[in-house]
Amino acid sequence: MPKKRYKIAVIPGDGIGKEVTPIGVNILEKVASSGNIDFEFINIEGGGQYYLDHKEEWPDGSFEICRDEVDAILLGAVGWPGADLPNGNIAGAGIIFGLRFGLDLYANVRPTKLYPGVKHKIHGETKQVWKPGLVDLVTVRENTEGLYTPIRGSLRRGGIEELAIDSNVITQKGATRIVEFAFKLAQTRNGAPKDGKSRVTCVDKANVLAGSRLFRSVYDQVATDYPDVEKDYAYIDAYLQWLVREPDWFDVSVCSNMFGDISSDLAAVLAGSLGMAASANIGNNHAMFEPVHGSAPKHYGKNRANPMALVLSTSLLLKYLGEKNNDLKLQDASVAVEKAVQEVIAEGKTLTYDLGGNTSCSDVGAAIVSRMTLE
Ligand code: NAD
Repeated sequence: MPKKRYKIAVIPGDGIGKEVTPIGVNILEKVASSGNIDFEFINIEGGGQYYLDHKEEWPDGSFEICRDEVDAILLGAVGWPGADLPNGNIAGAGIIFGLRFGLDLYANVRPTKLYPGVKHKIHGETKQVWKPGLVDLVTVRENTEGLYTPIRGSLRRGGIEELAIDSNVITQKGATRIVEFAFKLAQTRNGAPKDGKSRVTCVDKANVLAGSRLFRSVYDQVATDYPDVEKDYAYIDAYLQWLVREPDWFDVSVCSNMFGDISSDLAAVLAGSLGMAASANIGNNHAMFEPVHGSAPKHYGKNRANPMALVLSTSLLLKYLGEKNNDLKLQDASVAVEKAVQEVIAEGKTLTYDLGGNTSCSDVGAAIVSRMTLE
């Protein structure tokens, strides 16, 4: 049987993105070495640090490679202090937003799961606050509109910036497809930890914002097609306190762009650290996988960042490719990666600083790769 071949664009980006992304490549190489699979990697430089040297965010033709040549994209993080474009945008943002908007990656899927053995860093202490099993939710963030719509600008008079406007754009089409995505996802899961019920929580600010009212009315309409999934509503402000107080109530939460961005970072703390938060950007024809965190400049060059967010993003990449291509080996590999992370955490000896350990990023990565058991 000929080897199955998948092309992956690898964009390490900036800061700790450069340190964690090679671990994802090591994982895919191990998957390839175990069987009839071949990964071809196309490395693409880019980001703020690249901009400082080259005066462009990434080389010409990079977007087209991501659009036309690869099966999936693995990205580290972008953004670097002092690396700003003349228009004030951070250098590197054009890569992430260029891909999210340009490839129409409308669903940003951010799972939050607390694994046994993870200790929380809250109030300066590292301790176990919530029981494992009680935090297992997914934030489904709309990724191509809302406050991130590039319809914005500022008014300068006499060299003084007097006014700045961002547009919070919510459309029928954008809301419908993200809410449908959330309900379909809920149908594949085991329900909320508290009661086992499949539930999609509509997170919005419908008591104030017109866009949120449209989002909620679309939610109500779509929900009628999914009678097996419980409806649930929360205003974003109240949602954040419920998330911390009672995370086990939540199964899938669907949000417009900015609300999902912010609430999923808070949710990451429930899983122990931003260094645990993985994400997938999914469209109908393309997909990109990246940790939720940024380039964490203060940790760069010290080999101390937690690579698990990137590793778990790689697991999501394997799941996506496996399901899309009906490739059971990749689906099994996705499970094997998550299991290896869980084992390393449960053992408790090879952890980065954010989870209460002092192991290096690369050693944690190596421990996960060596624990992966593939058929
Ligand atoms: P950040 O996510 O880079 O880091 C915030 C803090 O979270 C860090 O200082 C660190 O304490 C912790 N942290 C993050 N990742 C970690 C990891 N893997 N292991 C351990 N601890 C980790 O956010 P920031 O400092 O606000 O932003 C830095 C740069 O990254 C900025 O330029 C920002 O625009 C950019 N950014 C990029 C993305 C992206 O590429 N998707 C996302 C967020 C921020």
